[in-house]
Order: sequence, then structure tokens, then C-alpha cells
Amino acid sequence: MAEVQDVIIVGGGPAGLTAAIYAGRANLSPTVFEGFAAGGQLVLTTDVENYPGFPEGIQGPELMQMFRSQAERFGATVIVEDVTRVDLSERPFRVWVDQEEHRGNSVIISTGAAARWLGLPSEQRLRGFGVSTCATCDGFFFKDRAMVVVGGGDSAMEEALFLSRMASHVTIVHRRNELRASAIMADRALANEKIDVRWNAVVEEVLGDEVVTGVRVRDVVTGELEDIPSAAVFVAIGHDPITGLFRGQVELDDAGYVVTDGTRTSVEGVFASGDVQDTVYRQAVTAAGSGCMAAMDAERWLEDQAANRASADRALAAQKDG
Ligand code: NAP
Repeated sequence: MAEVQDVIIVGGGPAGLTAAIYAGRANLSPTVFEGFAAGGQLVLTTDVENYPGFPEGIQGPELMQMFRSQAERFGATVIVEDVTRVDLSERPFRVWVDQEEHRGNSVIISTGAAARWLGLPSEQRLRGFGVSTCATCDGFFFKDRAMVVVGGGDSAMEEALFLSRMASHVTIVHRRNELRASAIMADRALANEKIDVRWNAVVEEVLGDEVVTGVRVRDVVTGELEDIPSAAVFVAIGHDPITGLFRGQVELDDAGYVVTDGTRTSVEGVFASGDVQDTVYRQAVTAAGSGCMAAMDAERWLEDQAANRASADRALAAQKDG
């Protein structure tokens, strides 16, 4: 049977790896399952400009490599595998990677969030053939061509700005007449001469047989349809928490986020940090902060458990003596 570890961390983005740094420094030798999406969403970003301590900005993958090295330096074991099943119904908690079982006295859930899709059949059919959620990964393939970005938040602005460096033109398709993005990102995008916005429009269909040739949008005010020629469509309409593994095991809200009080979940000994439980801030720095909190909460909880066990043992011994 697998040895029981103190802390198992599921997810290796800023939250999970920060939890690992803190748990490692508390001598808890954490195991982190960082999964195949190692590094989380930051590895899909180019310049991270708002992580404190890097006044010139830093590349997302480089920042995550630094997190990982720091966690390993303090004794964390980082496993590049996806957890496939968990059982949080009794302690020690159990976590599986396929048939391989791991047992932990505490678990920190830091599985983050994943990009949302529009949900159109044409979008799914042309995924990888011009439809993408990652400009950094795929933008280069459409160099000097027209591209479309869907969405009105910071992600959409970031994608559009990144793509403007290589595209002949970028059209942002947004369903309202006002952007959700922060002022600084919106201003940058709107001031860019290669970027324009198709306001009040939703994508009805991604056009193209084998590769994307454009999008058909519907004006939500007039109902009119319009085809926008484009070699690629980048969908940047937000994210959903990755909590499929934990459904029925810890309390989730209607949108699928783990419900937390601080970092405590509905199951004693199970903590959650980062985007998987954050419906408001969803920043790398806030994820890292909550990873630190989860590790400290887990450490205190484990200490309390040990203290309770010791006092129960003492009471039992006293009873026997008496
Ligand atoms: P978001 O802020 O939730 O924005 C999602 C956008 O997509 C909204 O404009 C929304 O429209 C639109 N949308 C949602 N569902 C749609 C649908 N089915 N069809 C068409 N449009 C749809 O998500 P985000 O942009 O990914 O940002 C998430 C968080 O990360 C935010 O806190 C953001 O500040 C942060 N972030 C920061 C940076 C940075 O600072 N560099 C970069 C990226 C993200 P409505 O506006 O009408 O709701």
C-alpha cells in the first residue's frame, strides 16, 4: 500500500507550486501532480507584465519554471502526470494516476481553469485548423493574414495585441458595445491601428471546409448577418474551473468552482487555492497568494490533528495506568 504523505497537491500552476514551496519549507515533503498542462495558464501567455518583482515583465513559461525549481529546492516532488481519480470520502485521502494509488493526510486542490469555447459545431470541427484559444501557441501560423479574436475581456485584448504583431489585421468580435477589459488593456487595443472591434456581434458560424476562411457574425441589435474573412479565430471568452475530478467529493458552486472558506473546502483536510476557487481575481499573483495560504492552513490543520492524536493517546495511557 502506498505510503501516506502529509500533503498532496493537485495542479501545478502558480497556486499549486506556491503551495508546494510553502509546504516544502514546512518539511512536509509535498507531492505535486502538475498534470500535462504543467505550469497552468501562464505557460500559454507570453509576456507577464503584472507579476510583481519583474519590472521588465517575464515570459510565462520561464516564470513557471522558476516556481517549479523553487518548489523542488525545498523538497517537493513534482510529477508530470494528470490525476485521474480521487477519493476524499475518508482519510487518508486517496489520489490515483490511472491504477497507481497515492495517499495523503491532506490534499490541496489547485487545478485551475481552462479556456471556454463558444460551443459551435463549426468551431469544434475547425479546432486546430484555424480555431484556437491560444494566440501565443498558434498565432505565428497565420502570419501576415487577417485574424479574428472573440471576446471583450483582458484575455481578448491581450490576444489581439499579441496577434497584431504578426497579423495583417485583427478584428475583435464582442457581443456588447462596451469592453469588459481593464482600461489600460482596452486603450492599448483600441489605439492599435491594426485592430478594430466589431461591436454588438456574436459569432454564428466559423466558415471554412478544411481550414478557417472567416466567421459569420450576427449583429445582436439589427439581426444582420455579416461574413468577416479571416485565416484564424482565437476564442478568448473566459475560463471554466477544472473540477470534474472533485464533483460529488467537495462542494462546488453552480459554475463548478470549489466553494471555500479561506482555503478550506467542505471536506476537512482538503484545501483549495487559485483559479479553481476564485471567481473574482483570477490573477497569477492572487493564485500564488492563495497557494501560500492553503499550504499554511494545511500545515496548521496537520499539526492540530497530530496534537489531538497525542492528547487522545495520553488520555488512553492514563486510563490504562489508572
Ligand atoms: P472575462 O474577464 O470573464 O471576459 C470574458 C469576455 O468574453 C467578456 O467580454 C464576455 O462578454 C465575453 N464572453 C463570455 N462568454 C461569451 C460567449 N459565449 N460569447 C461571446 N462572448 C462571450 O475573461 P478573461 O478576459 O479571460 O479574463 C479573466 C481574468 O483574467 C480577468 O480578471 C482579467 O483581468 C484577467 N486577465 C488579465 C490579463 C492581464 O492583466 N494581462 C490578461 C488576461 C486575463 P461580456 O463582457 O458581455 O460578459
